[in-house]
Formats: sequence, C-alpha cells, structure tokens
Amino acid sequence: MTEGTAQASTPTARILNGSAVAAAIRSELKPRVQAFAVRHGRPPSLHIVLAGDDPASHIYVRNKERAGTEAGITVTVHRLSSDVSAEAVRDLVVDLNRDVTCDGILVQSPLPGSIPKAAAQDIFDAIDPSKDVDGFHPTNVGLLVQGRARLAPCTPSGVIELLTREQIPISGLHAVVIGRSEIVGKPMALLLLERHATVTICHSRTRDLPAVAKQGDIVVAAVGRAGFVTREFIKPGAVVIDVGINRVDGREAAEAIFGAGSQRLADFEKKGSAICGDVDPSVAGIAGALTPVPGGVGPLTIAMLLKNTITAAEDRSSITG
Ligand code: NDP
Repeated sequence: MTEGTAQASTPTARILNGSAVAAAIRSELKPRVQAFAVRHGRPPSLHIVLAGDDPASHIYVRNKERAGTEAGITVTVHRLSSDVSAEAVRDLVVDLNRDVTCDGILVQSPLPGSIPKAAAQDIFDAIDPSKDVDGFHPTNVGLLVQGRARLAPCTPSGVIELLTREQIPISGLHAVVIGRSEIVGKPMALLLLERHATVTICHSRTRDLPAVAKQGDIVVAAVGRAGFVTREFIKPGAVVIDVGINRVDGREAAEAIFGAGSQRLADFEKKGSAICGDVDPSVAGIAGALTPVPGGVGPLTIAMLLKNTITAAEDRSSITG
C-alpha cells in the first residue's frame, strides 16, 4: 500500500448502500417465488456443492443458505469431504442436472487442493447451463459476450443493479475495471460495455495504473488487495465500486488502512481482525460516490444469486412445463 494513505480527509463521497439495494431486490423476488410455488407445487430450489473445509467458503455458503431460505427458496447444501475425488463431485453435478426438481446448481469455489485445476474446470463445465446460477458456464459466458445473457455472474450483475437503482449514469462514461478475473473483472467489463460505457480493463501488467484509473468516471476495484486503490487512482467526483473482500489481521496494516484514532481501528482492536475492501478509506475524500466494505457489493452478490435461481427456475419451467 502507498505510504500515508490513511491521511485524514473530509468525506465527500455519497455512500452507496448495497445492503438496502439488496434488500429491495430480495423483496421484489418474493412474489416471483410465490407464483412459481403456486404454479409448480414446490418452491424454486438451489443446490450448493461445498467440498472441503475452507473457512471462508463455509461462511459464504451459510450466508447463501440463509438468504435463500428467507426468500422462500429451498436450499440444499451437499457437504463433501476435502479428500473427495473429482469424479465424485462431477457425478453429483450430473445427478443434479438430471433432477427435474433442481433449478439451480452452484459449486462453491475453491474446490479442495486434491482436485487438479483441469478436473475442477471439468466439474464447472459439467453444470447444465440452464441451472448455472453463477453464470460461469462457457455457454452463459458466450451469451454474455453477445449481450443476451439470462444468467450473468452475480457480483458484476449486482454492481449494475446498484448503479442503475442509485441512478448513476453509465452510458457514454469511461469505466475503468481493475482486475480481469472470470468471475468479476471480465464480466463486469462486458456488462458495462453493454450499457454503453467506454471500458478500460486493468490488471497486474498495466503500466502506470494510477494514471489509467484516474481517467475513470466509474472505477471498479476487483483486485483482492486491502486498500490498494488510493486517492492517486481517483478523479475527483468519480464513482468508486469496491468489490474487494480482504481480511486484515495485523495491527500495523489495520492502522495504515483505517487510520489512527478511527472507529474502524477501534473495532479492529476489539475483534483482532477486520474485513476491508480494495479501496483505501481516504478515497471517500475525493470520490463522488463509494461503496462501503462491508455493506456494499457483498450483499448484492447474494441477492443476484437468488435472482438467478428464480430466473433459472422460471426459464426451465417455461420449457419443461
Ligand atoms: P482474482 O485474484 O481472481 O483476480 C484479481 C485481479 O486483480 C487479477 O486480474 C489481477 O491481475 C489483478 N491484480 C492483482 N494485483 C494487481 C496489481 N498490483 N495491479 C493491478 N491489478 C492487479 O480475484 P477476484 O476477481 O476473484 O476477486 C477480487 C476481489 O474481489 C477479492 O478481494 C475477492 O475476495 C473479492 N470478491 C468479492 C465478491 C463480493 O461478493 N463482493 C465476489 C467475488 C470476489 P492479473 O490477471 O494480471 O493477475
């Protein structure tokens, strides 16, 4: 992190409340869930495959399960041991593909280290695209590239929902996406392009990243490095979307990011750890709008997973009756 980023600054940025937008999306889904249940005699169903014991994955899955159940969706979690074979996971996915009462399948990433990368890719590719609520299947990625996705990746779709509902214009603006992963950066860039932004994608080889980012009217940070995006990256008044979820354990790192005497540092000291985004908090002093972490993009990701599940259920039932 750049030295001295935790400097005191008067916040100028409007804080974009992702939790409130996510709650609105979830409440809009309720009538769709109820209508599906009345028509088909059962609620929409989501099956989550959770292999191994990655603690963060267990927390994410618990949150997805809770949110799905609250929305009236039947959520089944298939817990598999960390030494499960790739064949066993793939067989489970194939069984779920065949199960007519299963509407959505999500294989939680990362799969255990015992499953080689190529075999893991085969497992994700085995998911029936019509049940692929994560939107990662090559068929759904292709549809996204062509601007006709029905099931798009949840995190970038959530960012678009947030911008739209907060009435932040996209068309004609310059959007800079920092990160080019399959799950966030690339689909984010495509969704912004579809809404007529001029899009720049940055990554670890981008030269003079702060200068490139500073051209952005909208900057999306999806890097995975705590407090990486500092004031030098941001044009005054830009909209900054912080996708990062990073755990900070060290006192020194926490003080560098949150600033001495800040409430966030006091909270860190109570708990011994904190979650922070990819954007340094001092950016609130220069941006026009900013998503907080936590309470920004994270809740939207889960809301969009539920939306994809009901969309998948409706779409499949319109074909299968
Ligand atoms: P990845 O590690 O897959 O991708 C990170 C990207 O950042 C890569 O494209 C990488 O570039 C780029 N990058 C890394 N270091 C630098 C650097 N020094 N300068 C410029 N670019 C750099 O991460 P994800 O996309 O999966 O996730 C990003 C963050 O978002 C994480 O903190 C993750 O936890 C969080 N996340 C949050 C979600 C939510 O719901 N809010 C959902 C998903 C992720 P290169 O390709 O060149 O290596």
